This record gives sequence, structure tokens and C-alpha cells, in this order.
Amino acid sequence: MDAGPDDTPFSDFLGFELLLEEQDRELLSRVRAFMTREVEPVINEHWTRASFPHELVPGLAELGISGLAYDGPGCPARGALVNGLVAMELSRIDPSIGTFIGVHGGLAMGSIMLCGSPEQRERWLPAMARMELIGAFGLTEPEVGSAISQGLATTARRDGDAWVLNGAKKWIGNATFADLTVIWARDVEDGQVKGFVVEKDTPGFVPTKQEDKIALRVVQNAEITLTDVRVPEENRLQEAHSFRDTAGVLRVTRMDVAWQAAGCARGAFEHALRYTKSREQFGRPIASFQLVQDLLVKMLANVTASTAMNARASQLQDAGQLRDEHASLCKAHSTTRMRETVGWAREVLGGNGILLEHHVGRFVADAEAIYSYEGTREINTLIVGRAITGESAFV
Ligand SMILES: Cc1cc2nc3c(=O)[nH]c(=O)nc-3n(C[C@H](O)[C@H](O)[C@H](O)COP(=O)(O)OP(=O)(O)OC[C@H]3O[C@@H](n4cnc5c(N)ncnc54)[C@H](O)[C@@H]3O)c2cc1C
Repeated sequence: MDAGPDDTPFSDFLGFELLLEEQDRELLSRVRAFMTREVEPVINEHWTRASFPHELVPGLAELGISGLAYDGPGCPARGALVNGLVAMELSRIDPSIGTFIGVHGGLAMGSIMLCGSPEQRERWLPAMARMELIGAFGLTEPEVGSAISQGLATTARRDGDAWVLNGAKKWIGNATFADLTVIWARDVEDGQVKGFVVEKDTPGFVPTKQEDKIALRVVQNAEITLTDVRVPEENRLQEAHSFRDTAGVLRVTRMDVAWQAAGCARGAFEHALRYTKSREQFGRPIASFQLVQDLLVKMLANVTASTAMNARASQLQDAGQLRDEHASLCKAHSTTRMRETVGWAREVLGGNGILLEHHVGRFVADAEAIYSYEGTREINTLIVGRAITGESAFV
């Protein structure tokens, strides 16, 4: 094992960061410093106003973490394990920034990486890795979420050297300001789902910000209407032939979300532990009470178990052996344990747990979105259940 930076938080109880090469530990350390210095002090204000901190994008770009795992043109090609630990680190400080990077660097860049032609990768990935172009990923629709593989209703019709898209999307992160949005639509000719890179300001493409969310308020989610949107054939992802290819992107990015969940739980736990050492009741720090220690240790166990499971799955991903059911098990487990952990963190803060100034309240709220997106607990459970029984229980 290499000696790396020594800023590892105590919550890395079993030393998972030591699994990384020294240069990857240094990257993680830079991410940690940026998030702590630049993001944490301003994020509650943005959360309250539901605004996005565009001023932080150049700093995030300098970290070089967009498309971190991908081995494509201009991409860092650092692998899945460090990508996962970085995703955890972002969400440990703020799950909205973790989601922003997950959508741009994971879902949008991943669609082009895994479903684009070599020319398309050259055309978009280097600028996306530098964050000069920001991406979004449009799959979910107002009337269909979990059943999207069967019920996707947005249509694509070939018209000469272009395609015409019609339909609607919902929940599309970053889409209010993204330069490129990957839209998944069903070809009316052969009935297959295909991917299209729609550029900002294309006529007929209208994203509208979703207001009044109670979770991940910093993430700008949009409902999108697509009315006779003309997309040139060279913007159709050339290797997206059916929903199976879309699912290939989700397999990889679902691991990102499992790591985000571990990060969200870890951030809440750390704030809670710190608080229990400073808060006194009955003349003693509340950390000295057995019932409080019981909750703190259960939180640490949850965070550690999720990290262990995710680390192994990311190693399998690096070895080209990650299966859908592996990622689904990690996502379902990490998000369930996250929801439990943030609840306990809030509990040990008493009334202060619902005040934004102590941060834990933000993690509690944000956990609700992470719990449901990229496949709910039920859907990921059904994916694992099908794999271990050979029986599909989806309908
Ligand atoms: C904050 C946020 C950001 C998002 N970002 C994006 C994005 O960038 N791009 C994008 O394309 N999408 C995005 N999504 C959409 C997200 O992926 C969906 O919300 C998710 O897939 C669930 O779909 P749904 O919300 O329509 O719930 P539904 O599918 O309506 O499910 C409702 C409930 O029914 C349950 N259920 C459904 N089917 C079954 C079944 N067969 N058996 C048992 N239970 C079942 C579900 O588990 C859930 O509990 C985002 C969502 C959120 C909340």
C-alpha cells in the first residue's frame, strides 16, 4: 500500500481509502478540500433558494472528475473504484453536488461513452470532461418511471437525414441549463428505444424547472416538452440499438448512486458524532449516554457495510465483471441503510436536527430523492430477485 495524504476522516473506519493508488488518494484529497472549503459554507443558502451554484463549476472542472471512470477521448480513465470513492466524497459534503456530477459525468457522458460512435466520443467527451459542455440524461417521462423499458412513449421518426422527436420528459437533472441532453425515444419504425443528443436551444425543446422540491433542492430538475424537435442523424447515438443499451449505461451509473447513498449517510453520521460531543444535557456530553452511543455505532456500521459492498462491486466493474444484479443489490442496500442512518443522525441532534444550520436536516431531505432515483428499492430488489430465483416478478 502506498502512503497517501493523511486527511482521511475517522468515518473511513476500515481504511477503504488505502485500497487506492497514491495518485488516486491525492485526487480524493483534492476533492475533499474543495468540497469542504468551497461548497459546505455556501450550500445551505443555495438549498434554501433552490438555486444552482454555477460559480463553483470552474473549480469542479479543475478537479478533473467528470467521466472519471471512463476510458474515452479526453476522459481521466481512472477506474470505477476511485470514481466511487469520489462520488461518496462529493455526497458526504453535499448530495446535490454529488448528483450534479453523477448526471453530467456519469449518465450523460456514459451514454456517449457506451452508446456513441468513435466520432461522437471525439466530438463531445473531451469538452464534457473539461466541463465546457454540461450534459443531462432524459429517460423518465411524466406518465412512466419504473416501467420505462416497456412504456417509454416519446417518439422518434426518421425524416431524411434527420429525426423528429415528440413527447415529454420529467425529472431531468441539469436540463434547465445543460448544453446537451441525451433524449431516449422510441423509433416509430422498428419500436426500439434509441438515444439522441439534443443541443440547447433546439427549436421545440422546452425545459421547465420543477419547483418546490423537498429534496436535492440545488439540483435543477426539468420537465421537458419535445414538439417536432429536429435532430440530425449525426446526433443519434450510433450504438444505442434498443433499451438493452440504455440499461448498460444504468448498470454503471447505478453504482454511482449506491456510492452517493453511502456518502449521504456518512456526512450525516459525521455531523451527528461531532454534535454529540459538544452538546451537554444532565451536565454531560450526550455522547456519554449509552443510548446515544448505540445509535452512533449503528450508523457507523451502516456506513461501513455499504462502503464495503460498493467497493467490492466497483472492483468487479474494474475487472469487467459487474452484472446488473450486483449494482442493484448495492443500490437497494446502500439507500435503505442511508435512510435509516440519516434518521438516526437527526434523532441524536434533537430539535436542532431539523435546522439547516446543522446540515443533518439537508441530508435527511436529500436522502429521499436518492432513495427513489435510478431505480427504486422495489425495482432494484426485483432485479436481484430475478437473478437469484430465475423468476421475474415485475408484473
Ligand atoms: C430528484 C430526482 C432526480 C431524477 N433525475 C432523473 C434524471 O436526471 N433523468 C431521468 O431520466 N430520470 C430522473 N429521475 C427519475 C427517477 O429515475 C424515477 O423517479 C424513478 O425511476 C422512479 O419512477 P417514478 O418516480 O415514476 O415512480 P413510479 O414508477 O411511479 O413508482 C411508484 C412506486 O411504485 C413502485 N413500483 C413500481 N413498479 C413496481 C413493481 N413492479 N413492483 C413493486 N413496486 C413497484 C415503485 O417502487 C415506487 O415505490 C429523477 C428522480 C428524482 C426524484
